Amino acid sequence: MAMTNPTGKLSTLLLASTLALPALATLSPPPLTAQEAEHMHTGMYDGPTVLRAARLLDVATGQMYTNAVIVVEDGVITAVNPDPVPDVMHDMDLGDVTLLPGFIDAHTHLAGEISATSFTDAVTRTEAFGAINAVRFGAITVRAGFTTVRDFGGDVTVELGKAVERGDIDAPRVIPSRNPLGVTGGHCDVTGFAPGIREGGPEEGVADGPWEVVQAVRYQIKHGAKVIKTCATAGVLSMEGPVGAQQYSLEELTAMVQEAARHGIKVAAHAHGSEGILAAVQAGVASIEHGSILTDEIMDLMIEKGTYLVPTTYLADRIPLDELPAPVRAKAEEILPIMRVSLQRAIDRGVPIAFGTDAGVFPHGENAGEFDIYVGMGMSELDALRTATIHAADLLDIPDRGRLAEGMLADIIAVPGNPLDDIAVTKDVQFVMLGGRVIKHVMGGRDMHSMGH
Ligand SMILES: [Zn+2]
Repeated sequence: MAMTNPTGKLSTLLLASTLALPALATLSPPPLTAQEAEHMHTGMYDGPTVLRAARLLDVATGQMYTNAVIVVEDGVITAVNPDPVPDVMHDMDLGDVTLLPGFIDAHTHLAGEISATSFTDAVTRTEAFGAINAVRFGAITVRAGFTTVRDFGGDVTVELGKAVERGDIDAPRVIPSRNPLGVTGGHCDVTGFAPGIREGGPEEGVADGPWEVVQAVRYQIKHGAKVIKTCATAGVLSMEGPVGAQQYSLEELTAMVQEAARHGIKVAAHAHGSEGILAAVQAGVASIEHGSILTDEIMDLMIEKGTYLVPTTYLADRIPLDELPAPVRAKAEEILPIMRVSLQRAIDRGVPIAFGTDAGVFPHGENAGEFDIYVGMGMSELDALRTATIHAADLLDIPDRGRLAEGMLADIIAVPGNPLDDIAVTKDVQFVMLGGRVIKHVMGGRDMHSMGH
């Protein structure tokens, strides 16, 4: 990280230390105190920080506050709009921006990004490739304002999440699935290679029948999964059969959900076709990922059971069709337009929606493009923001995030203007704080915390 003053507060700090230590007051600037040097390295202040901004949105109530103040200490929000505002050394005015809770993307793949070689990476790359990717894409994602993700990326993003919690790297907090569960030869298996090249069992997430599924769930949880991801149906970005085909039976999905629940863990089901979606909802999964072919019966059951739809629709605009093998491209062209129709019907019918993008299928960092789709389909800007805050926090069982309120984690972002008037400002995040640590702060068009991304 550059050894420049990241927040414009250095002069205040130097002045304060000069006043406190008159013996050091000379014509040349005094040396940095250990605390100042530590802040420059970590973006973290010792003691409380006051954040000021022209606006602050309470996404739960819809209330927009002006001349807003947040007080942060030890990585947590300790007050919102206190009166009087405490007099602290670290007082930052972010100006004409709106403060929002850090966004949550419930469907990412930080360990990779689609490319012309994606379909051979499984046999040409090592896990180190994914690890290096995850650090890079995590940095891009958190700087886009996404401070928590639910990621489906094997051991790599289990470790990424631990590194973030240690404060070692700048990336989103991670709710990891470790390896997704799927049937032999299904969308969550690696297909397209000769026998013996890429085979897996329950440890890799390939599991057939209820007992193997239970074993696979236990193994993922043993090694760090905080959610179980499964492929209830076939998919687009794989070489196997019709995209909507059901792959897990109701019996297998039920065994999976029940075993995960015994560990206090939810299941997220990738599902395109109606039969597979219905089975997953009946089995009690917490979310349907993609949900491409929804029926009225399915939507009503989702509403009744509180099953979230995680739509992942922005990718349809951005998936690089020309780089896909012909059979995969054909599946994409078949299913993506249908997925949009289903989302429109789900919004109109009132199905619970949690924000998710499938980032990695399109370039990381463009996650906020998903908001445009929801608003374009008639969802209010406030409800769109709720999908990536309170609704996603509910789905991910993280009640310490998703709202700017006392006691919540200090995961705070700022966007220019007013997102209730123009949702597109979510694509222009000016400030990111993660657990009280400033990791992006754009001033005069330049990020004072840039690490060269
Ligand atoms: Zn995905």
